[in-house]
Amino acid sequence: MNTTKTKRSTKQTTIVEKETLLDIRHLKTYYPVKGGFLRRTMGQVKAVDDISFEIKKGETLGLVGESGCGKSTTGRTILRLLKPTDGKILFDGKDITTISGTELRHARQNFQMIFQDPYASLNPSQSVGDIISEPIRNYKKVGKKELKNEVLDLLSRVGLPREAYDKYGHEFSGGQRQRIGIARALALKPKLIVADEPVSALDVSVQSQVLNLLKELQAEFDLTYLFIAHDLSVVKHMSDRIGVMYLGNMVEVATNESLYAGPLHPYTQALISAIPEMDPKKRKDRIVLKGYVPSPQNPPSGCAFHTRCPLAKEECYQVKPTLKEVTPGHRVACILY
Ligand code: SF4
Repeated sequence: MNTTKTKRSTKQTTIVEKETLLDIRHLKTYYPVKGGFLRRTMGQVKAVDDISFEIKKGETLGLVGESGCGKSTTGRTILRLLKPTDGKILFDGKDITTISGTELRHARQNFQMIFQDPYASLNPSQSVGDIISEPIRNYKKVGKKELKNEVLDLLSRVGLPREAYDKYGHEFSGGQRQRIGIARALALKPKLIVADEPVSALDVSVQSQVLNLLKELQAEFDLTYLFIAHDLSVVKHMSDRIGVMYLGNMVEVATNESLYAGPLHPYTQALISAIPEMDPKKRKDRIVLKGYVPSPQNPPSGCAFHTRCPLAKEECYQVKPTLKEVTPGHRVACILY
């Protein structure tokens, strides 16, 4: 059994032994690019290009990076909504990389997703009661009354009144709809939840309510989160550890505290320098990156960040750096370390 020492983000920083729930090894997800009259495969988009990381039970790993960096593809591949091109996905000690049919259906009870857009993710023709009870009906044999009670209990856990049961998605605000989505994700009591930008479509005023709810539910249901977001302030609030992605690669992984206090990768340094800081004493000079993220269909040679890196050297054009542990638990992929 794989155990290591991990810091939890309860601000008292308790050291506890945790088992690994999710172990991702050299994961690659490439999309074929089709073209021409016969729709032949003309190339590949390397959306996720050889990333490895693990998540401990009860932990939240935040995944950050600009749009198109591969964070959502990573989340969807882990949930087996996308087929991995290569690598391994070990969930609770079991290799789920290539399982299919009944085996995959059975495994899926343990990992669920919270989607970005609470407006699009709820079926408009189903009542809230139907939406939340659907996964339970699909996986368990439960009597009508017991099923309704389970759904009412879930509604109450996510802060919605029991009257919501007979209503429809359009009768709720964005924040309330996301609560319905969370209740649906919780219905099968999963071990892992992949939350893909769960608050980015919501008004700022309700974002913190939903984030706090996710934290409360994590403690209550003993959940492990892969929390995907482009907003570093949101990720900081939620995560124990954070992985930074750039163009399909993992460029830095560290504890929340270590990453924000001392980012090592030039890309992470630029992202963190862009976070608005209210305290003038803590304000740092903003590092503005030039240019755009290159296409993952034709990524640059060597370090994928070299086209925008203010510290790039000759060697960076040829050598692809791999993640290296620089201080305990803090890993970075850059030739400068
Ligand atoms: Fe910049 Fe080179 Fe480090 Fe890449 S390897 S982040 S280009 S210094």
